[in-house]
Amino acid sequence: MNYLQEVAQLRVELSSAYMEIELTQATMELAEQQPTDYENLFQRELYKVFEKSKRHLIPKETYNKTIEGLKTAAQESSSKSRHGYYVLGKYEVLQCGDVEKLIKKRRMPDERPMYYVSIEETFDVIKRAHIATGHGGRDRMVKHLTEKYANITKDALKLFKSYCEVCQKKNKRPVVTGVVVCPIISNEFNSRGQVD
Ligand SMILES: [Zn+2]
Repeated sequence: MNYLQEVAQLRVELSSAYMEIELTQATMELAEQQPTDYENLFQRELYKVFEKSKRHLIPKETYNKTIEGLKTAAQESSSKSRHGYYVLGKYEVLQCGDVEKLIKKRRMPDERPMYYVSIEETFDVIKRAHIATGHGGRDRMVKHLTEKYANITKDALKLFKSYCEVCQKKNKRPVVTGVVVCPIISNEFNSRGQVD
């Protein structure tokens, strides 16, 4: 490569670096302006997963219906339906003040409750765990959440993390091209990057 080609190449690299910075700033501004945007996006993605597999995720409507179904099944003393037996074997309703929560059926009365979370509540639950673990990675969040919740999936955690601006910034490492021209690259790279 001759000198002029090299300069042209560097110009392209520099302008794409600046473009990326502008894009990141725009995304951050957007997140500040519309804090619920990610939540809606997240919810929509979970519903897409739910369309394919209904094993773990529970829409709010199903969650409420399951609680009603459980209460009905518990009242049918002699003639329980097949569905009644199924829900009673799988779930329990826990009264928390005014709120009824769906939990995993406990085998022992002193067992710690494992809460089911509806798709609509998942974002908040993960957000709390993510903040509580100091922007914890997937494994730390899994550890934190599996002690209390029955149906938070690893995919949901991964998705959540991909939306977190703080985590995304942390993960982004400057691309080392061998020649350092860009003043925004911090000092720690100068020692390695500088060419005589
Ligand atoms: Zn984070």
